[in-house]
Amino acid sequence: MPLIIANKGKIHTYICQDCGHVYHRKRRIDTKRFVCGRCQGRLNYQGTEIITLKK
Ligand SMILES: [Zn+2]
Repeated sequence: MPLIIANKGKIHTYICQDCGHVYHRKRRIDTKRFVCGRCQGRLNYQGTEIITLKK
């Protein structure tokens, strides 16, 4: 699953536990307040990826 991200850095990954939609955020979000934009479901924190782009 390739990620298209302009800047390198840390990306936090969240997945909606209801519909499975994946969210990538540069900043950590409050999963108690931030809900899925599709189904309003709760998000599960999946971990942090280090993104490095090489040319
Ligand atoms: Zn959802």
